[in-house]
Amino acid sequence: MELQRRLKDCHDKLDSDKSCQVLVKNSWNSLRRAFCKHPNAVHPADGCELTRTANLTGPILSLFGASIKLFQFLAGVSPRLDAKHLNEEVQKWVVRQGGKCEADRWRPITVCYGLKKGEHFGDGGTTIGNTFLNDVPPAELRKEVLYHELQHTKQFEFYYNKFNFWPTFLVYYTYGTGLSRGCANVYEQEADLHGNLYRC
Ligand SMILES: [Zn+2]
Repeated sequence: MELQRRLKDCHDKLDSDKSCQVLVKNSWNSLRRAFCKHPNAVHPADGCELTRTANLTGPILSLFGASIKLFQFLAGVSPRLDAKHLNEEVQKWVVRQGGKCEADRWRPITVCYGLKKGEHFGDGGTTIGNTFLNDVPPAELRKEVLYHELQHTKQFEFYYNKFNFWPTFLVYYTYGTGLSRGCANVYEQEADLHGNLYRC
């Protein structure tokens, strides 16, 4: 996959190489185009109106289709928000969706719960920035899950620190790994070294 190779080549120069930054921006836009009827209408309140269901096929669907409402929301969030404001926007959205959020007392992660699998998060939960979205309140969350997701918050931060464009990690997670899920995805392998959630 050509895009996967180009993203890999850009990995260590995202902070300085303009063409790499453009590549990441274009990749995010093509993800948005795969889903949104009006991909250029970027406003936090707009979200994205989905394209016909017929277009929601292929590996991108398998990555994001499991959390379609989340993706609709993220597609409408300005990619220029800083990390702090991104977390605030995600947590406001959770409340609008009927969920609740609680910051972990000891670790830099906020756990949001009362959400629906298959709409608001995929698999066992989804982490955006420092916010973990799932259906279980923090007091009932298994330690393995928390450690696994903490690693995703660090991955998010790693890419954000290189290039202040928060979707960068989502682009790498999706295209940079050849659209592979679970243990075949390098970011899941890395997270699982800490959480041993999937037993990769
Ligand atoms: Zn994971």
